[in-house]
Amino acid sequence: MTLGRTRGVALRGVSGTVVEVECFIGQGLPAFEIGGLPDTALRQAAQRVRAAAAGMGESLNQRPVMVNLSPAAIPKQGTAYDVSIAVAALAANGVLRAEAAREVVHVAELGLDGRLRHVAGVLPAVLAARRAGHRHVVVAPDDVAEARLVEGLRVSTATTLEELVGAYRGLRGGDRLPEAADQALAPVVPGPGRDLADVSGQTEARLALELAAAGGHHLMLTGPPGSGKTMLAERLVTILPRLTADEALESLAVRSLVGEVPDGGLDVVPPFVAPHHSASVPALVGGGSPHVLPGALSRAHRGVLFLDEAAEFTQSALQSLRQPLESGRVVIARARQQVVFPARVQLVLAANPCPCGQAWGKGLGCRCRPTERRAYAARLSGPLVDRVDLQVDVPPVTLASLGEGAGESSAAVAARVREARSAQAARWREHGWRLNSDVPGQVLRRAPWRLPAEATAAVDRALDIGDLTVRGYDRVLRVAWTCADLRGRERPDRSDVGRALLHRTRGRAAA
Ligand SMILES: [Zn+2]
Repeated sequence: MTLGRTRGVALRGVSGTVVEVECFIGQGLPAFEIGGLPDTALRQAAQRVRAAAAGMGESLNQRPVMVNLSPAAIPKQGTAYDVSIAVAALAANGVLRAEAAREVVHVAELGLDGRLRHVAGVLPAVLAARRAGHRHVVVAPDDVAEARLVEGLRVSTATTLEELVGAYRGLRGGDRLPEAADQALAPVVPGPGRDLADVSGQTEARLALELAAAGGHHLMLTGPPGSGKTMLAERLVTILPRLTADEALESLAVRSLVGEVPDGGLDVVPPFVAPHHSASVPALVGGGSPHVLPGALSRAHRGVLFLDEAAEFTQSALQSLRQPLESGRVVIARARQQVVFPARVQLVLAANPCPCGQAWGKGLGCRCRPTERRAYAARLSGPLVDRVDLQVDVPPVTLASLGEGAGESSAAVAARVREARSAQAARWREHGWRLNSDVPGQVLRRAPWRLPAEATAAVDRALDIGDLTVRGYDRVLRVAWTCADLRGRERPDRSDVGRALLHRTRGRAAA
């Protein structure tokens, strides 16, 4: 009697646990049992494994096959255990040496014809394997490039189960399966099409974008259709700092669960995700059954979540974003488990100034009734929009502004953003914050960060006459610090506060 043993990975969200896959073939009536909290798709591995084995002339139909996945208490889902179960079963059957595959982590589905097939979540699974100290994985040919994103592991592959088993059988002593053939991996670079230099005019909006990138502030753009709000929002990622290798892996691991890993390689440009306003709450924050998948919010992790036509999203959808935006993660509770997805995003909202979209400038073109305009504005208020530090008007592009020619390139702006971010990091390090947008309002209102009355005169007055709430006051202070950082100054002065106040009250007047 032999015990076949190898490894697979149980994924829960983007975190994974390496699972031991054991197989024992007994005496008695034929059966194929899988223990250790399998879901329906995993139980059906029995059919796929038997068919694939039969295809290579090995029968698993004569005797009882018992598969055990441990630790048993972790729920296990999906088809990614197929190959590990097949290898363990064939080892138990004496087809390959049990020792050869024992410490190898297999992450692939089996077709009935014996082919190794792609599965979602290869990247988080391989990351989990490395974290647990494993150094060798087997994935489907389609998933080799994705697995290779994780350094320090040997990645092997095979077209079919027969080929894989043949390779295992050919191993002598301490030999290991050969490394998969090299695939060209070039870093993904941003498309040449997108650059801030493409945006003509829009001086105010460009400055707001720079402030947003520098201080990590959420941003709301208000303007009529066709004014270029989407074009501006898309370019925010071109002026944000590139992701570090670890951040890029973290971001890609989430997207791997929904099959969004680019062929190229490590994507170091922050992701830009723009869900449609009809998106459901699960589509936005994650959910689903039986597999819990990340929503738009987590797919935008380490990047930008853009809500165009923000007033058209349901209130429940907008509200569902609030808590994750505060905590930087989404927690989805299920009967047996809790799934956590990372969700550190910068939010950009875009909205028309009114239902007809024409209430900009003096508002002469607007055909909406005052009640309609008020109802529309009300949809864009509340706790979510309260977290948006920067609100800016985006007027239509005029012939005069087109004459201004191209603005600065993304590269030039990104350089200032980097400088401003290092100033913030140095200033707030001892408090554990990185960006001005992380700093609680009361900190900025108290010594030693409190600004002299001379600098805050305008904003103090706005608070006194009720033009600003205390929260609005705090947002102005946060943005003022970012204005100062972009100018390379120690502390905000009167002009920085004035500029920050401009970005606050203008948006409010339009709404
Ligand atoms: Zn209108």
